[in-house]
Amino acid sequence: MLLPRILVSTLASLLISGSACAGKLALVIDDFGYRPKEENQILKLPVAISVAVLPDAPLATQMATRAHQQGREVLIHLPMAPLSKQPLEKDTLRPDMSLDEIRRIIHNASLKVPYAIGLNNHMGSAMTSSLSGMQKVMQVLDHYNYYFLDSMTIGNSQASQAATGTRVRVIKRRVFLDDSPDEAAIRQQFTRAVRLAQRDGWAIAIGHPHPNTVRVLQQMLTTLPGDITLVRPSQLLNDAQRLKPPPHSGAAPHDRFTGGQICRLRQPLPAVPPSRALAVVSESVAASALVQNVKACFSGLHPDFSSLK
Ligand SMILES: [Zn+2]
Repeated sequence: MLLPRILVSTLASLLISGSACAGKLALVIDDFGYRPKEENQILKLPVAISVAVLPDAPLATQMATRAHQQGREVLIHLPMAPLSKQPLEKDTLRPDMSLDEIRRIIHNASLKVPYAIGLNNHMGSAMTSSLSGMQKVMQVLDHYNYYFLDSMTIGNSQASQAATGTRVRVIKRRVFLDDSPDEAAIRQQFTRAVRLAQRDGWAIAIGHPHPNTVRVLQQMLTTLPGDITLVRPSQLLNDAQRLKPPPHSGAAPHDRFTGGQICRLRQPLPAVPPSRALAVVSESVAASALVQNVKACFSGLHPDFSSLK
């Protein structure tokens, strides 16, 4: 048992000095449930890419189930009222709805989008900028184990503020990949997300199942820089929770994620074969935070590109 212990401590110190991962990039593809062709192409991309499913879409349950079976993170893409006039999904949340009505809509969505562990807003510039509206949403979400990914469709979103005093964890989208459907523009936005992740240690980008977005993802994911790790949004939230300041330090009262020094790489990762490193470390410290962190890093460093053409 002596040798493994020595190996463990050497590896542990190497890995700690490597400061775990560099930039963590979470990619979420919204509006799932309507476009089987593009969505099936998305489901062939690395499983670290998460999907957000519209509850009333015809393929909602089918797509959520397929994504989950692959090990993908699933979110409910909950329709929320926009400021502008546009065609709305059924059961779009409005600020003037009662708590009971919001509870009913979220309950139905949870049945139609099984396996979801988070929820983000579809549209929602009117709803998310209403503090009282979002307080009702957070009050309901407090009874579920969902995190809230704020799609940030308006600058003064009240989602984080509304979650104060609840157990709902909130994280914010930083880049929209395909506001412009132009392929060059999508590529530029993808690069922006990568640079943000490299600079700050993390980024969340949201895209949609459009043919050009699919094409850009297929191309760019094969040439992802080595210091970028694809992660699920929940991993960023877990990182934030691990690094949360102790109580009474004047920090925010809940797990609001504002980014920062989550997983910044100060030195390159040690040249240890990941599979061996994990096997050895797991002999003795499987449940430690170190292993969770290392697993997170390595799992993202080796995404499954086998289905990419
Ligand atoms: Zn949407």
